[in-house]
Formats: sequence, structure tokens, C-alpha cells
Amino acid sequence: MSETHYRTCNLCEAMCGLKITHLNGKIEKIEGDKEDPLSRGHLCPKAYGLKDIYEDPDRLKRPLKKINGNWQEISWELAYEEVASKIIEMNMKYGADSIAVYQGNPSIHNLGTMLTSQPFFRSLKTKNMYTATSTDQLPHHFASWLMYGHPLLVPIPDIDNTDLWVIFGGNPLVSNGSMMSVPDVAHRMKAIQERGGKIIVIDPRKTETALKADQHIFIKPGKDAWLLAAIANYIISEGKLKWGSLADFTDGLDELTAAIKYVSIAKASIETGVREDVILALAETICQAEKAAIYGRVGVSTQSFGGLSHWLINVLNILTGNLDKVGGVLFTTPAIDSIGRSKPRNRFNRWQSRVRKFPEFIGELPVACLSEEIETDGPGQIKMLMTSCGNPVLSITNGGRLDKALEKLEYMVSIDIYMNETSRHADIILPPATGVETSHYDLTFHHLAIRNSSKYSPALFEKTEGARYDWEIFQELGNVLSRKVSGEEINGGKIFTPEQMLSRSMAANTYCITWEQVMESPHGLDLGALKPQLPGRLSHENKRINLAPELLLNDLNRLQASANKSGEGYLLIGKRHLRDNNSWMHNSEQLQKGKNRCILLINPKDAKKEGLADKEVVRVKSRVGEVKINVEISDEMMPGVLAMPHGYGHNKKGIKMEVAQKNAGVSVNDLTDDLVIDELTGNSAFSNVYVTLHKNSEQAIF
Ligand code: SF4
Repeated sequence: MSETHYRTCNLCEAMCGLKITHLNGKIEKIEGDKEDPLSRGHLCPKAYGLKDIYEDPDRLKRPLKKINGNWQEISWELAYEEVASKIIEMNMKYGADSIAVYQGNPSIHNLGTMLTSQPFFRSLKTKNMYTATSTDQLPHHFASWLMYGHPLLVPIPDIDNTDLWVIFGGNPLVSNGSMMSVPDVAHRMKAIQERGGKIIVIDPRKTETALKADQHIFIKPGKDAWLLAAIANYIISEGKLKWGSLADFTDGLDELTAAIKYVSIAKASIETGVREDVILALAETICQAEKAAIYGRVGVSTQSFGGLSHWLINVLNILTGNLDKVGGVLFTTPAIDSIGRSKPRNRFNRWQSRVRKFPEFIGELPVACLSEEIETDGPGQIKMLMTSCGNPVLSITNGGRLDKALEKLEYMVSIDIYMNETSRHADIILPPATGVETSHYDLTFHHLAIRNSSKYSPALFEKTEGARYDWEIFQELGNVLSRKVSGEEINGGKIFTPEQMLSRSMAANTYCITWEQVMESPHGLDLGALKPQLPGRLSHENKRINLAPELLLNDLNRLQASANKSGEGYLLIGKRHLRDNNSWMHNSEQLQKGKNRCILLINPKDAKKEGLADKEVVRVKSRVGEVKINVEISDEMMPGVLAMPHGYGHNKKGIKMEVAQKNAGVSVNDLTDDLVIDELTGNSAFSNVYVTLHKNSEQAIF
């Protein structure tokens, strides 16, 4: 007889509750769990991919070693011995910084990796730490750290109670929220409109979310900071400030006022391409709303002024009194709270990258520097790379450069379930058990969810015989390394399970819930709506908000210097599909079926100007490379802007992802530029890249 298993989907930030029906080790059905307090029965098509990942014949389950160009299975013991020996060898030959680490996006969604990878990687004492955080979210953390004292103190739009949701560069109907976990966003958006509220989307593309919104405003990519600064200036100069009790514990209004007074609505209109009357109306709508939540996401983060833009989004929420207000934006209170336990400290510029001298932030360097740090000879050069759950060849700007640079490494290890475009360069691959074979508790996204809840999911199926969990890999490898270095294993060689670690973390929480209660609640525990909690929740020692951090004020000079400047050709922006999850779920048959999604969107006027017909193949060129892709003519696009999805380009030799290879597509990151970066936060500027279009004589490929 079939059995039912409840778990949290850990594929994206939304944390949807799933109800999985299974029989004899086979998944029969995946549905949304109606009793999950956060997702209320919602799920998206990607959840079905969990079955495909579990059954995927291409998924690796044993360590592989490259011997004379051929992959051979080896034992875990041999693999650990070799990797630990190489770490020691590189350290002795070149120093600790010669070993670099890259952690990809799924790292943060995997409980075992979250709990055990950092202690291991930190033990390497390298300054060359890179993660997917510097591809699309450092600006959020940077603004939060400077303003509120902790990178994870990100205010979350309270859309279940708001009257106005203003979205800059985000597409929550497709992402299900990002830096804001919001499953079932479609119903929540509808509820805003049904109670007389309004949704406004500001984006260079009329996205799926924009189509359902009350208003959509086209804006030139990378120009959000101008619009935000102009609205902030308008609020202050027109005497429309209404920040109420926030004034009692907020510093910096005078400095802010002086710094943005040159950004008029007229000036912002020239820079953004948004008409003056539209900006004025937007400013008035924000000022007049009883409860408003201003939110920005990927389009705002992945640009040259991401840090400034996210700071100004926070500024607007504060100036209008919407920070820490029901129906505005609020901080979360997770049961396992990383914020409350950490002490205020400097997290910026404690070291710099070797080649371009970019400052570190939260312990990592911008991933846009990774290729040059491998290529450039000299002391501190990267000689060995360890990747965990990542495919940076497809996911970082100028991925083609990294693809070549990886060949220059002396040694590479990938902790990954697939032989992908990056791990194919490795000398050893260590594949962990994954998905429904693992237990889960979300350690990060409860900090960013629109409702407080707590949920533990046990593993559904046993891992394959002889396989290892990620938490076993990091602890066992750490023990072998420690034994080789000091003669002793860590904690006497004891391996801790995630459950043992979690029960300790849950010991003191504001809700007084026990780990046993969480374990016994298959649908999760509802811990209630987000609530106002300032100034107590602030992490700055003085418990005050800094409205005008010096680093951000100074960066306004860079914004000012960028005025009236543009490149040649079209600006290229990214695009996401509900069935895509970056690059790593492209081997799911369920998710890959349907028409080709790797297409280039172009406005009808631009297509006419270029003489392009719908579905025609076009060559797209940038400073760094060239791809051939079919165009799709669409009035979704702002004139002068093109959009292309990321995560494609599975056309490299030596990868083992059969389904993905059938729909290989091309990589947008063969066009994006690693030299274009938000110089303040170190975030890659995917959306500030100029490309040119060239006719191609080939037939359409779909
Ligand atoms: S939105 Fe989809 S991928 Fe994300 S958690 Fe929910 S079901 Fe999983």
C-alpha cells in the first residue's frame, strides 16, 4: 500500500511543503501540502524534478578519479586520502591562498552542506573564498549590514497585509520570491488587488509578474538608483517625510538629504527613460499609501549600482514609515536565528583580491575575480580549486574565460552530483546523496520568509549503498586532513548527524519550542506572522539605524559620474522560466519538455531595425564572446534591451547530462563580462552588458 511522506522542497527559496506518495522505493505522486503553514498547498513544476533527480541514471553516486583522461570509480577512503594530501602539498608549495573554494547556489539549500562545509573550508585558511552570493545578492547583504548591523537583517515585504507592493527588477510569479520566501505568491498578489491594493512593477521587461500587476513601468537596465534617489529626494524636499517613531532611532537624515539633493525627477527621467510625470505619480503613490512595501531583486542586484539601489530601497521604506510596520516591510524571527547569536563586527575590506584589489565582504571575494586569480602568475595565485554544488562555468560572468582558466589549475575537486561543465575539469568528483535521500531543515530562508515557521523533513529514502551524505563527506575529509596535519582527528573522529547539530541549535529559541516538537510536526509549526520588533532587533551595538552609511554616500559620486554615459548596441538582461533552476536541473525530463526556452527576446521595433524575423537565428556579440540563438519578437521587451535566460550551454565535451545535452542551448555567460561589476559590493553586473546583433544565414533551430 502506498505511503505518504511530508517534506519541504529545498530546490528554491520558497520552502513549499510537499506531500509525496510512494510505494516500494518509487515516488508515485508529488502534491502541495495544504497543511504547510507557509505554502498552504502551493508547489511549482520544479517540485516534480525531485523524482527525476532521485531516479536520474546520470547522477553520480561514487567518487570518481580522472586517470589519464578517463574517469574511474575509487573508494571514499582513497579519495579522501588523495584530496587531503593535495591540500597539504599545495599549502606547502604555494601557501594557503593557492587553494580556492567556490560554493554554488544549491549549497545554501542543502542542510548537510550548510552545517559542515563552512567549518571544513574555513580550516583551509584561504582568502580565496567565492560563492554564488556575489553573482546576485551581495547588494542586499551589504545594505543590511551597513544600515541595520547584520547582512541577514533583510526586511521582508509583508504582502499579506500591504496596500501597495512596488517591485523593482523582481519577478516573484516565476521565482516564488527571492530574498523573500513567498510560496503561493499568485494568490497573495490577487489578495492585494481584491482588497483594493495595488502592485507596481518597474522592469526593462514586462515580466509574468508585470502582466498581473496594476502598473508596469519600463526602466533602462542598471538605472534604478537614479529613480530611487529622485523619489527619496522628492519625499524629503517636498516635506512628505512620515517616518514616525523610526526617527527616534535613525541617524543620518541630514547627510542623506545633502547627498541626493542633486537627483531631481527631471535628471532621473533622462537617466532611466521613465517620463517625469510617471516618476512623480509613482512618488506620490508611494507617499500616499497607508501601508507600502518597496522591494527589489535580481535586476536591481545584478548591475553596476546594486549596492546603492538596495540601500535606496531601504531608505524609501524608512522615509515613508513602512519599515517595521505591518503591511510594510518587517524583519523575521526564525526559530534557529543566526542573527541573534552573532556579534556586530567589521565584515568588509579585511583583505583584497590579488589582481584587481577588490575588497572582501562577509569573508568572500567577488566571483568575477576567480578566472584572473587562476590565470595570473605570481605569489598567491590559485593552483587548486574546490567546488561544492556549483557550475560556475555556466553561472558566472564570462564563464568561457573560467572554462579555459580551469585547465591551468594543478588540481581540482568537485563535490557534485553531476559531471557538468565545471566538474568535468576536476581531478576528483565526490558526489553526495541528495534530494529525497536527505533530511532537511532550512537554516537560511526562514530568515527571509514572509511568515515565521519551523519545519524538519526526514529523509524519504535510504541513500544508495556505499554513498555518502554531504555532511559525512565534509566531516570525514576534515578528519583525514586533520590526522595528516596534526596526528589527531576532529572531535576524536566523531561524525555528527544534522539532527544532532540541529537539536543543539534549537536549544534556546524565542518560541520555547523543542526540537522534539519540530520533529513530530510533519507539516511544520506555524510561528505566526512577522511583527514589528525595532529597535531591539537591530544588530548595531547602539541599536540605531544608519540611514546614511559613508560607503554608500561616497558611492553616489560613482553614480553621478556615470550620468549620460552608455555603450554601443543593446543592453542584455537575464530572464528566468518557472521550469528552470539555474543550470543544475536541466537533466530533468519533466522540466525540460516543451518548446525551446533558450531564446533571445527582442522588441518588435528593434527586430524591424535589424531586419530580423521571428525565430530567425542571430549572432550576438559582446566584448567577451559570441553566441548564436533564435530570436523571439516580443513587446514584453523595452526597446534597446534584449533578454536571454541563464543556465544553458550544455554543449561542452565530457559532460554527462543526457537530457540537458538534448536541449543544450547557449550560455548567456559567454556574453556577460567579468570586468563589469558593482565596484562597491563586488556583485557581478550581468545586466550592464552591451551586445550587438548580427544576421546569420542559418535556418532557425526550433
Ligand atoms: S516554488 Fe517550486 S521549486 Fe520552489 S520550493 Fe516551491 S515547489 Fe520547490
